[in-house]
Amino acid sequence: MENFLGDISRSVQLSDDINRLLEVRTNPHSGRGVITKIDCSENQLVFLEEPLVLGPSNDPTSEFCCVLCYKILGTTTYNQCESCSLPICSEKCLNQSSGIWHLRMECPLLAKSRSSISAQVLLSTRSWLAPVRALILKLIDKPKWGQLLQLEHHLNERRNCAILQRQQALVWFAIQQLAVVETTQEEIRQVCGIFDSNAFRFGVSREIRALYTLVSLINHDCRPSTRVIFDTQFKARLSARRTIRSGEELTITYVSPLLNTRERREKLQRSKHFTCTCTRCEDPTEFGTHFSSLRCPKCIKGHLVDNDLPSCDNCSFKTTKEKVQCLMTALSLKQEKALRKSDSTSLENILGIYLKALSDNHSLVIDLKQKLLSNLNRENKLQTWKRRLQLNQEVINLLDRIDGSNSRQMGFLQYQRQCFFVIRLAHMQRLKTTCQNGVQESDEYERTDWLIGELEKSLSLATKLLKHDINCPEELKRHQVK
Ligand SMILES: [Zn+2]
Ligand SMILES: [Zn+2]
Ligand SMILES: [Zn+2]
Ligand SMILES: [Zn+2]
Repeated sequence: MENFLGDISRSVQLSDDINRLLEVRTNPHSGRGVITKIDCSENQLVFLEEPLVLGPSNDPTSEFCCVLCYKILGTTTYNQCESCSLPICSEKCLNQSSGIWHLRMECPLLAKSRSSISAQVLLSTRSWLAPVRALILKLIDKPKWGQLLQLEHHLNERRNCAILQRQQALVWFAIQQLAVVETTQEEIRQVCGIFDSNAFRFGVSREIRALYTLVSLINHDCRPSTRVIFDTQFKARLSARRTIRSGEELTITYVSPLLNTRERREKLQRSKHFTCTCTRCEDPTEFGTHFSSLRCPKCIKGHLVDNDLPSCDNCSFKTTKEKVQCLMTALSLKQEKALRKSDSTSLENILGIYLKALSDNHSLVIDLKQKLLSNLNRENKLQTWKRRLQLNQEVINLLDRIDGSNSRQMGFLQYQRQCFFVIRLAHMQRLKTTCQNGVQESDEYERTDWLIGELEKSLSLATKLLKHDINCPEELKRHQVK
C-alpha cells in the first residue's frame, strides 16, 4: 500500500486521544483521507467513534419506527412521547441509553414550540428526523455543527437530482410545522446532500442512519485495510483487517464485496461520484477468481477475461466485446427471473445452465447459489443438509479469495456454517437414542469429532468478527472466543 502523501488537514478538529492515533490529510487525487500514526495488528480495534448525529433511515425499505430505539411500530396505533408526541415504542424506552438523542435534541424544542404535529408529519418521521437533528446541532452544539459542515455534499453533481429535491421538500414541510429551528431551503439541501453522501445505514433492516466525523472521512477501497461495524450503542468500531503500518491510509468499503467490478464501479459512481481504481478494480480476473469471466466455449477449461478484446487464457479463442455484452444481457435478464423463483429444483437447473457459460465463481453464479441456499434453508429439509453446507462453503471460499477472511460478511457466513453443524449434531443425537446400534460412520460428515471441530472453528470466527455488531446473533453474544 503506497503512503498517502498530502498536507495535514486543519479543518477537522480531532480530540487529543484521537490525535495521538490518526491524522486527516488532503491530497490532490483522492481528497481527504484518514492516516494512522501507529502500527496496527490484524483485528486490532483502531478506534471507536460516537455518532455526530443519528436518526431513522429514509431507505425506501425502512419502516415507521420508534424515534429512540428504532424498533418498528404499527402505523395505526402507536405510543407517543408525552412531552413532544413523537412516536415511541414505550415510556420505558425513554430511560434507555438510546433515548439520549431524543431527550437532548428535538424533545425539549418540540415541547417548547407547542405546535400540534399533523399525523402526516408524524408518520413521515423517518424522512425528516435525522436532518432536523443535524440542524438542531446549530443551536446546541456549534463545534459539532461545524464538523458536520466539513463533510462532502456533492451538490454540484446533484443540483437536479429528483430524490434529493424530494428529501429537501419533506424536511422543509416538517420544519414549517415543527418550528424548532430557523433554517433556509439551501441549508436543508446541503444537510440532505451530506446525509446522502456520508451516512452509514445499519440495523436489522438498515433502519438507522448516522454520520460520524472521522469514519465518514475514510476513503473507499474494494480490498480495504479496515472493517467498520456499528454496535448496540450506535458507535462505529473500526478494526484492522490486516497489519497496517504507521503512515498508511485507512480504508473501508462502501459496497458489498460480492458485487462484480462493473456493479461496484456503477454503484460508487452513482452514490459517491468517483471511479474506483483499486487493485481489485484494475485486475480483470479479480484476484484470479474470474468473478466476471465467461467460460471459454471452445476449450471449456479457460476463461474469457472481461477486457477490450476478450480472449481465452487457455487456448487461442477470441471474441468481441459486443458478443460478450450481448450474452451477459441475456443472462442478466434470465437471472432476474430466476431470483424470483421459489422452488429449489428450478434453481438447481438454472445453476447447471449457468455453469456451462460462466466461470464457477461468476457473480451471477454466486448470487444464484445464495438464493438457492436461502431457499433450502427456508424449506429446512434434513436431506438437503449436505448441499446447504456445500453451497455455504463455496461462497466462503470465493469471499476468502476475493476479499479475505475477516470481513463482516464473512462473519455472517461463518455463523450460518456453524448452524449447519448444530443441526447435523442434533440429528445424529436423535438417531443415537432411537437406534441402539449407533450410526454408521461412512464419511466425515457422520463423524462427531469432525463435526464438533468444524462447528467450533466457525463459531470462533463468527464471534470474533461479529461480537459487538448491532446485528450479532444472540448465540454469539454469549460465546467467548478462545
Ligand atoms: Zn423504543
Ligand atoms: Zn419527546
Ligand atoms: Zn475498487
Ligand atoms: Zn479456451
